[in-house]
Amino acid sequence: MSDPNELTVLNPATEETVAVVPAASEEDVAAAVVRSVRAQRAWAALAPADRARLLRRFADAVDAHTEELARLEVREAGHTLGNARWEAGNARDLLLYAAGGAERLLGSQIPAPGGWDVTFREPLGVVGVIAPWNFPMPIAAWGSFPALAAGNTVVLKPAEATPLTALRLAGLALEAGLPEGVLQVLPGYGTTAGRALVDHPDVAKIVFTGSTSTGREVMERCARQVKPVTLELGGKSPSVVFADADLTAALDPFSFLDNAGQDCCARTRILVQESVLEEARALLADALAAVVVGDPADEKTQMGPLISARQRERVRSCVPDDAPALRGSAPDGPGFWFPPTVLTGERPDSRAAREEIFGPVAVLLPFTDEQDAVRLANDTPYGLSGSIWTRDVGRALRVSQAVRAGNLSVNSHSSVRYWTPFGGFKQSGLGRELGPDALAAFTETKNVFISTEGPAL
Ligand code: NAD
Repeated sequence: MSDPNELTVLNPATEETVAVVPAASEEDVAAAVVRSVRAQRAWAALAPADRARLLRRFADAVDAHTEELARLEVREAGHTLGNARWEAGNARDLLLYAAGGAERLLGSQIPAPGGWDVTFREPLGVVGVIAPWNFPMPIAAWGSFPALAAGNTVVLKPAEATPLTALRLAGLALEAGLPEGVLQVLPGYGTTAGRALVDHPDVAKIVFTGSTSTGREVMERCARQVKPVTLELGGKSPSVVFADADLTAALDPFSFLDNAGQDCCARTRILVQESVLEEARALLADALAAVVVGDPADEKTQMGPLISARQRERVRSCVPDDAPALRGSAPDGPGFWFPPTVLTGERPDSRAAREEIFGPVAVLLPFTDEQDAVRLANDTPYGLSGSIWTRDVGRALRVSQAVRAGNLSVNSHSSVRYWTPFGGFKQSGLGRELGPDALAAFTETKNVFISTEGPAL
C-alpha cells in the first residue's frame, strides 16, 4: 500500500529508490491555483517581446542542463540515454518555437458596416496539465510551453512514477527569471491531486495525456464545468507494408520498440501484404535477435526496461508463454525487463491485436490488397498514428487519405516534430498539440465591434 503523502521514484532498470518526494494534497493544489491566478495577471500583462525573451532564457537554461535532465530521465524512466538526450532537446526546441508565438498571436479585422470589427486572442488563465510517465519531459513541455507563451500560467501534475524531470524544469524556469507561480509542478496521485486540478473552478483548461479510460473520466469532470480539454490518449497504430516496399526499412523493429514500446505512437500492428509475409517474418526475426536490451545508461543500449513491475505484469498478461511469436532477449535479475516480441499467430480480433499493450510487443497480420489493408488499419477504436510503406505514390496518397489517424508517415516511421500538429482521431484524443497552431488552443477568441457612427465624411 503506497503512502498517500509521498511518491517513491524507482529506477526501473535496478528497482532501487531514486527519490522520495512529497505528494500534493487537494489543499496543495488549491493553494497552487491561487498562486497561479495571481501570477497570471502580471504574466499576461507583460509585453509579448518580454514574455518571449524570458521563455528563450528558459530554453537556454534547459540547453545548459541537457545532460543533467537526460540522466535524470534515464534514472526515473529507464529511457536509453540517446532517447533521453533527444527528449531534453525537444523541450528546449519547443520553448524556442513557442516563444516566437508570443509576438505572433494575431487577431483579424473583419469587414462590418458602420464600424470596425476586430478579434483578439486572449489567454485562458490557469491551465492544468496532467502528464503520463512514458515521455515525462516532452509531454510536460508540449502541454505547458505553448500555454505559457500565450500568456497563461500552468500547474503541471506529472505522473506518480516520474516527477523528477518536471520538478527540475520548473527549477530551471525560476533560475531563468520566470516569475514565481508562472510554472508550478505538483507531483501527486491522479485520484487526489489530478482530480483536484481537473475540478478546480479557477483552472480554465485541462490538457491531459494518458490512458483512454482516465481521459474519459477527465472529460466527464470537465463537462460539469464546461471546461475545455485537450486529450492525448492511447493508440494501436498500424504499419501498412505493401509488397513493393523497402521491407528492411519498413520492418525496422524500432517502429514499435522505441521506449520499450511505451509509446502511444508505437506501430504495434504490423500489417504485411500476404505475398511477402514469409520474407517479413524472417527479417523481423533477425532484427529482433539483434536488439541490444540492457542498462539504459550505456550508450550502446537500444532498449531499456518497462517502467514498473505493474506494467510488466500487464504486458505479460497479453503475451502467453506458449503464444507463437518471434522473440529477442532481455536481461535477468533486477529491473522490469521484457524481451522484444512479435506475435505471429493472432487474429485481427484477438486481445493482443486490439488492446494497447504498452510494451515491446507487436502483432503481425497479413492483408490481401489495398482495400483489405485500409479495412484492417481502421479496424480499431484508436486513431493516433500509422505508417504506409509502398513505392507507388498514388497508392501512398490514397491510403493516407483513407486511414483515420492524426499522424501518418509514408515510407517513414516518424510521428513527432515540435513544429507539426500532433493528436488523435477517434478514441485517441481530442484537439491538437504542437505545430503552428499550438498557441491557439490556449486562447479564447474575443470579437469587438467598434462603431464609427458619426457625421458623414
Ligand atoms: P494514466 O491515465 O494512468 O495516467 C496519466 C496521468 O493521469 C498521470 O499523471 C495520473 O496520475 C493521472 N491520473 C490518473 N487518474 C486520474 C484521475 N482520475 N483524474 C486526473 N488525473 C488522473 O496513464 P499512464 O499509464 O500514466 O500513461 C500511459 C497512457 O498514456 C497510454 O495509454 C498511452 O497511450 C497514453 N499516452 C498518450 C499520448 C498521446 O499523445 N496520445 C502520449 C503518451 C502517452
